[in-house]
Amino acid sequence: MLADCQSFYASVEKSQNPDYAGRPIVVAGDPERRSGIVLAACPLAKEKGVTTAERVGEAVAKCPELVIVRPRMSEYIRVSLQISDIYRSYTDLVEPYSIDEQFIDVTGSLHLFGGDVQKMAQHMQQQVLSETGIYCRFGIAENKILAKTACDNFAKKNASGIYVLEKDRLADSLWKLPISKLFMAGNRMTYHFRAMGIETIGDLAAIPLERLKQLMRRKFGKNSDINAELYWRIANGVDDSPVTPGTHESPPQSIGHQMTLPRDYGTLEEIKVVVLELTELVCQRCRSKGFMGQVIAVGCQGADFDRPTGFFRQFKMADPTNVTNHVYREAVRLLERHWDGNPVRKVGVTLGQFSNSEQYQLSLFDDRERFMALERATDALKEKYGDTVIMRAVSMTQAGQARDRSGKIGGHYK
Ligand SMILES: [Mg+2]
Repeated sequence: MLADCQSFYASVEKSQNPDYAGRPIVVAGDPERRSGIVLAACPLAKEKGVTTAERVGEAVAKCPELVIVRPRMSEYIRVSLQISDIYRSYTDLVEPYSIDEQFIDVTGSLHLFGGDVQKMAQHMQQQVLSETGIYCRFGIAENKILAKTACDNFAKKNASGIYVLEKDRLADSLWKLPISKLFMAGNRMTYHFRAMGIETIGDLAAIPLERLKQLMRRKFGKNSDINAELYWRIANGVDDSPVTPGTHESPPQSIGHQMTLPRDYGTLEEIKVVVLELTELVCQRCRSKGFMGQVIAVGCQGADFDRPTGFFRQFKMADPTNVTNHVYREAVRLLERHWDGNPVRKVGVTLGQFSNSEQYQLSLFDDRERFMALERATDALKEKYGDTVIMRAVSMTQAGQARDRSGKIGGHYK
């Protein structure tokens, strides 16, 4: 099953605030500004033509009585985890796919509902609705890709919110859909498929794989073989990836790095370089573990450890994050506020109060998605070729330590 929460952020707000009942509402990044982005619109708002990701100004123009609500991400995470827990009472195989979608493998417990998967989904849907006020739709199929397709294209459009996509009846369902509905295919790919004479998902599925590879090589070169096979498998409903439950590794209290400098640093500019390098290390580790932290701490110490100078201060951010630029911004604020101008020999940065970053995967929250994509790319490069393969320009300055550190065993960073 792929279970998807309808208008998730907006539904959470509506379920917890009786004043919003019967009124069109949106959750928007910055309600005070007309340039803020709509993160979620309730069905009533959608009826008035309001869409996700448009600007608040445009939404209000379409629907003047619109209620605009500021997001409460930590509450959405809490409800998302609560819903996961409900599903986990039906099977241990629950895999969060985004903050409002989960894959659920019910193969092992289906017999408890007499083998009737519709009945089981209804039961789950009803329980989530009564315990959280959130309405969920269920796409059901023999594998994940088909379950996702069943949810997005069919369950969201029928009255029960539940749709079973049978593998041997793809000709009447999946293959009738226009190619633009193919999972993972964006506008650009849809355009290229059309240019190849492929109008429906069925057209794509019917092409022999070798022929599709040839067609795609002509447009994208020989590295496109993997993508050709991926699209072809999706169109044919082939997917053997298992539902993998999220690891229950509980996060540590915090993750921190500190560094003893080779000399005293006396200017804010120099100290900021080190703070950025440390922040990058801390965030990189959080990202690799899947944690997002909400409390940032920065400490600085002078060279004479017997006569301590310096500070150690922390700050709670509005939302949990592991994006280097966001954490760095707050770290610099702490530094500017609390550094007394004395020379600094030791610097530390710590991120704590974690929540699980998987839950944020598909969130449209401010510019986080762009930064996360960038950091996934740089993290992957560093993983493969070492930490110095890509660095921030400030690390090339006199104050930078990142280059130096990589040449040492157990360097300064601990
Ligand atoms: Mg949803």
